[in-house]
Amino acid sequence: MRRAERRAGWPSAATPDRVCGWGGGKRVAVWRWLPPDTDGLRAGLGADREPGWPGAIPRGCGRSYGDAAQCSGGLVVSTSRFDELRLDPDSARLTAGAGVTLARILPECLRHGLVLPVVPGTQHVTVGGAIASDVHGKNHGHAGTFGRHVEALGLVTATGELLELTPETPGGLFDATVGGMGLTGVIVWARIRLARVPSAQLAVDTDRTGSLDDTLALLSEPGGPHRVAWLDLLGPGTGRGVVTRAEHAPAGEPTQVGDKGSAARRARAVIPPGWPAWPLRSETVRAFNALRFARAPRRERGRLRGFSEHMFPLDAVAAWPRLYGRDGFLQYQFVVPSGAERTLEQVIAHLRRARIPSFLAILKDMGAAGGPPLSFPVAGWTLALDIPRRTDGLQGALARCDELVASAGGRVYLTKDARLRPEMTAAMYPRLAEWRETRDRIDPDGIWRSDLALRTGLVG
Ligand SMILES: Cc1cc2nc3c(=O)[nH]c(=O)nc-3n(C[C@H](O)[C@H](O)[C@H](O)COP(=O)(O)OP(=O)(O)OC[C@H]3O[C@@H](n4cnc5c(N)ncnc54)[C@H](O)[C@@H]3O)c2cc1C
Repeated sequence: MRRAERRAGWPSAATPDRVCGWGGGKRVAVWRWLPPDTDGLRAGLGADREPGWPGAIPRGCGRSYGDAAQCSGGLVVSTSRFDELRLDPDSARLTAGAGVTLARILPECLRHGLVLPVVPGTQHVTVGGAIASDVHGKNHGHAGTFGRHVEALGLVTATGELLELTPETPGGLFDATVGGMGLTGVIVWARIRLARVPSAQLAVDTDRTGSLDDTLALLSEPGGPHRVAWLDLLGPGTGRGVVTRAEHAPAGEPTQVGDKGSAARRARAVIPPGWPAWPLRSETVRAFNALRFARAPRRERGRLRGFSEHMFPLDAVAAWPRLYGRDGFLQYQFVVPSGAERTLEQVIAHLRRARIPSFLAILKDMGAAGGPPLSFPVAGWTLALDIPRRTDGLQGALARCDELVASAGGRVYLTKDARLRPEMTAAMYPRLAEWRETRDRIDPDGIWRSDLALRTGLVG
């Protein structure tokens, strides 16, 4: 693969690299730049740029599944040196550099009876990445998205200006940055409101369900705010599953998790590079799913688990996407509004008919949509499906799913996406024009762009 060409006006410290999304697959040539601090970032961006400059995009841990954190032939701005962390337990506030990961933040917080109100399904994401994707957790109906808890953030714009933004800042730039996929500038720090919790342990209720309808019914019942269902879409019926609903255990509960309750989750295994894809076939995953279903308790109440252990199950195996081999996998995550449950069935049935296997399927309920125009959640249901990229007929089958989702008033999640087209993006994100207006004001030369943004038409 050819290296990306170095352009005049680029920071001299940028070095050639190849990157891809968490779903793996083809790597693209970029120049990676690791600014030493905010001043270095500002100085680098303020330099003269030649016409036709190929653009730049911030990158955190690269846990977005597709092409959101890369810009082919352009500059990838790594944020790992924005790493200061200040916790104020009295006011329950955290000020963190944008490159700090949740894996670093959570143990600090939990030790003081505090927690980030929203965490995604992995601890290996940065504060900047969590804001730029406006991530949601298993408790969306209860806590909303990550961005709802951000009080203020520092943003370095295309001209190297440093702005402090709050939800009240006129002009909509705060909301355009939250969920804005790095396309308004580099977030360098954020102040976040934390939640007080009685313990670092969760009390988890588990139920096995026989069908999609049972799963939806159970996820609609009262119970702990952290709720999620694993579905076995390779097994019999319409999607038997395992539902968990969890809440923080009261203080003083006998601990079943030792001091692991407040620790970061450590990987117990790592998939080595070059792992072949052949062991991961429908037959083997079907057998694994059957075992997983059979081993789950039929009905269990109040089992104590460590916060990170329960919230980040996939972090137990490092580099797990290598299981899919060189071609990697796609995650198709979409949301449909309440009342459109039939669309969930239609998507599942359509993929089955087209013989598209979903090796991992996760269903969650979502609460009301938030303020940011590109934020993903809609009150209803979100389903995330992991599918090997090398599956015959995949693109056509997912294009039909897009139509089903869009006509139900739903949308595909940008941070997981690797294939959505501009027409569908505009149909699914009706406030795109409003977002573009704000973005074009702050970056009229279109410096910030990613492969995702160009492919989906977020930017021209
Ligand atoms: C196992 C797993 C489980 C997941 N579960 C969930 C889940 O439950 N809910 C959910 O919402 N998401 C989930 N995700 C997705 C993940 O939370 C998001 O993709 C998140 O944005 C990744 O953060 P990152 O630091 O890796 O960002 P990257 O992947 O590096 O970047 C993601 C986007 O953020 C932008 N960005 C990164 N840093 C900055 C910055 N400092 N300033 C401006 N823009 C920036 C990038 O340009 C890019 O557009 C999951 C991902 C994995 C791998």
